[in-house]
Amino acid sequence: MTATTPAATTPAATVAAATATATNPAAGRPTLLSGWRASGRSDLAAHVAHYGPLPPLHGDFPRRLVAAVEAAGLVGKGGAGFPSAIKLQSLPRTRSRPTLVVNAMEGEPASAKDHVLLSLLPHLVLDGAQLAAVAVGARQVVVCVADDRDELAAGVATAVAERQRTSQLPVPTTVARPPGRYVGGEESALVGWLERGRGVPAFRPERGVPLALDRAPALVHNAETMAHVALLAREAAGASSTADPEALAADRTTLVTVSGAVARPGVLEVPLGTPIADIVAMATPQGPPVAVLVGGFGGSWLGAGALGTPLRKDTLGAVGAAPGAGVLVVLGSQACGLAETARIARYMAGESAGQCGPCVFGLPAIADDLDLLVAGRGGAAIELRLTGRLALVAGRGACRHPDGVVRMVASALDAFEDDLRRHAAGRPCGHSRRRTVVPLPPA
Ligand code: SF4
Repeated sequence: MTATTPAATTPAATVAAATATATNPAAGRPTLLSGWRASGRSDLAAHVAHYGPLPPLHGDFPRRLVAAVEAAGLVGKGGAGFPSAIKLQSLPRTRSRPTLVVNAMEGEPASAKDHVLLSLLPHLVLDGAQLAAVAVGARQVVVCVADDRDELAAGVATAVAERQRTSQLPVPTTVARPPGRYVGGEESALVGWLERGRGVPAFRPERGVPLALDRAPALVHNAETMAHVALLAREAAGASSTADPEALAADRTTLVTVSGAVARPGVLEVPLGTPIADIVAMATPQGPPVAVLVGGFGGSWLGAGALGTPLRKDTLGAVGAAPGAGVLVVLGSQACGLAETARIARYMAGESAGQCGPCVFGLPAIADDLDLLVAGRGGAAIELRLTGRLALVAGRGACRHPDGVVRMVASALDAFEDDLRRHAAGRPCGHSRRRTVVPLPPA
């Protein structure tokens, strides 16, 4: 059996890919990975030498930061893609000062970008967290690193310790270790674990319902999002008051984790809007891609004909996809897209938090139907049942976990329609089912 190693557990591979892009920063200004050094984790002195100290935090700093984030069109990099400026301004007015939670859980197995950022450039993430915390008047910052990533958490704790007794830590900061699982990083699950020690998503019919920790508002931002805030704040501080704020939106970059049928899996920093095919080419595909899973395990399969789509929220939205966590899993001609979809669906069914019926019962049933189709034992009736189940489960969980599975499976039925016809007719699709490319954790 040939299986690519999960990107999230191959730091050597991710570092190798990161090196290639870090030496080629866009727009002649510091980018997310431009401070990367071959010697490993960047300490505070090296960080300040490359990116500079925190910008001045007095006066109208909060307003300028939010304006810069808004002008740049920054959206959350953890998966949901919510506009970061709105989130920064959405905290309810209370007498209790909020907590800023940095979400570095990265429960998505095909994503390694937050791991790379925090292990190589932890101070960039801490900068952004400090700046966002000052902007919202937070009393503390909590950086959440999954409990199965001891080395990463230790590196972040070391970075926090370096900043103590310097001007680079205006807001007290700690590292927390919630359980590492797929839905563990869902923001209400994260705050729930910090509050009560139970990390399951909360039912929030209105997605805007504010989160609370110790009876004070809690604001959750992804680790990469914080690194972007660190860069934007410095650029905004260096710009004159008459500078065009729209200039901040030009030439921005984003992190992408590429895995699957490529010779160089890893994390790449690319200009926002780079066509998916170009990003895949940077990772050296093992033959022409048949399809790419975009966004993550709750993302969408795009067939070869759609790979010219720029990696941006609006352009991907037009083809029914989203950047999600910046994940690209490449499917070559050696693997079966339907079989890979069935593997992901089975994994996602096992990652349910176990509290909503449509998710607990619906996801295994969807995985069962996919297994039947893959084995050539499911005809039109099973296909019909599967599409019915997808419609039944969608939108009926407390969190978006089942919705992501539905989106991913529905996109597979579209992208692999020809294969589906052959499987449904009991004929093999011609791709080996034993060659797997999706980086799933060991069962
Ligand atoms: S939808 Fe699924 S994962 Fe989300 S809270 Fe309900 S059972 Fe848990």
